[in-house]
Amino acid sequence: MIDDDLEIPLRCLFCKVPLQAAEDSSFHAGDLIRCLSCGEDSEYESVLEVAKEEAQDNVQRLLDKEMSKLAKKLFK
Ligand SMILES: [Zn+2]
Repeated sequence: MIDDDLEIPLRCLFCKVPLQAAEDSSFHAGDLIRCLSCGEDSEYESVLEVAKEEAQDNVQRLLDKEMSKLAKKLFK
């Protein structure tokens, strides 16, 4: 299923580990998220931006894969 491949973790801008946040915490533009791994603060908006780009790459890859599968079916 496509959904399984689209889960994009928010990553620390410094060491790239997925950021851990408490279940009930929510972030807003301008917030800083403290990385538990390296202790640096990542700006929430930048973290989101990176995650969005990663998601778009993944979607594009999936589409390419599906399209070539479809093309093989159609033009056998
Ligand atoms: Zn980090």
